[in-house]
Amino acid sequence: MNWKNQIWIVAEHREGILAAVSLEILGKACHLARQAGKTAVGVVLGKNVDGPAQELVNHGAHLVFQLETQDSPYYQEELAVHILARLAGDQRPEIILLPSSSLGQELAAGLAARLETGLASHCVDLAINEEGILEQFIPAYGGIGKISCPVKRPQMATIGPGVFPRPAPISDPQGLILRIPVQEEEPLRAKTLSLQLDPPRGKPLEEARAVVAGGAGIAGPGDWQLIEELALLLDGAVGATRPPVDEGWVKEELMIGQSGRTVQPDFYLGIGISGELQHTVGIERAKMIVSINNDPRAHIFDQSDYGIVADYREILPLLLAKIREKKKGLS
Ligand SMILES: Cc1cc2nc3c(=O)[nH]c(=O)nc-3n(C[C@H](O)[C@H](O)[C@H](O)COP(=O)(O)OP(=O)(O)OC[C@H]3O[C@@H](n4cnc5c(N)ncnc54)[C@H](O)[C@@H]3O)c2cc1C
Repeated sequence: MNWKNQIWIVAEHREGILAAVSLEILGKACHLARQAGKTAVGVVLGKNVDGPAQELVNHGAHLVFQLETQDSPYYQEELAVHILARLAGDQRPEIILLPSSSLGQELAAGLAARLETGLASHCVDLAINEEGILEQFIPAYGGIGKISCPVKRPQMATIGPGVFPRPAPISDPQGLILRIPVQEEEPLRAKTLSLQLDPPRGKPLEEARAVVAGGAGIAGPGDWQLIEELALLLDGAVGATRPPVDEGWVKEELMIGQSGRTVQPDFYLGIGISGELQHTVGIERAKMIVSINNDPRAHIFDQSDYGIVADYREILPLLLAKIREKKKGLS
């Protein structure tokens, strides 16, 4: 079989579980591969990664490089860059795609630097043009910018969770898994010795049917609790724009938009959010968008099904009281 024209998906996994975003990227890669006569290749690195490798095949990968580390059970970024750069030098993939998670971003940057090629981060779409060049779309300058890398190879991009739909398993997986043992050849300059995971809080954003998102218009961490309470009452998830994350009111994993998550709830309520494209690309698939903003010219209203021009400090206490009352009546 000819493994030329490879599109790599460098998969992310934790404790033997493949991250959903890796399957989403694989789905897109398979689509591009079919369109452009290329090969979708999963790359999975770590100890005991039979499960993630098989899952990639089950979801359409034509080939998986299963790079089995022998030493530390933990992901080591420096080692990953070294191993992937060597494999890329050998296989010469046309395209390398990674998740724009914190691990994926770090790995992508290190790998692009090592391979002396370009990298487009936080893409919101990908296409292959008639010349076979990868077109990488990102929100920029108030619109969607197209980035391409016509000379250097591989062409590299990162994509966030929820940007592409998750593919269903294929009925007759035929992909091949190549197991390659890898070893630490030199001592690493920095090494992960243990991991402490935060327990997940509330509903995952991508799965929530209602999302209550707050922005820079929220006055502070005290008022942020109103956002959390409303999300809880609606049995939904909390989301945010960049400023509340920068302020430390909310974890980065709850940021919606180009550098964050893409959500598709039945109901999205944006409070104190101006509607910058970097945020709104993440809510395009919401079925109903409602926003509260005290500036009638805020861009978020252009995208909203219902807009409330008001100070959230007046509206939210009324809304919370009304919902509490309704819920009480139902119980
Ligand atoms: C490369 C890049 C990637 C980025 N990625 C992301 C991303 O993934 N997600 C993201 O969110 N941002 C991202 N950003 C940042 C983005 O450009 C915006 O700066 C950000 O989305 C603005 O957040 P905001 O709407 O909360 O704040 P602002 O733009 O400051 O808007 C605050 C709004 O609150 C309103 N307001 C103020 N007081 C009240 C009140 N009392 N009641 C009601 N309304 C009030 C104001 O009228 C205003 O419209 C990115 C930027 C770059 C350059």
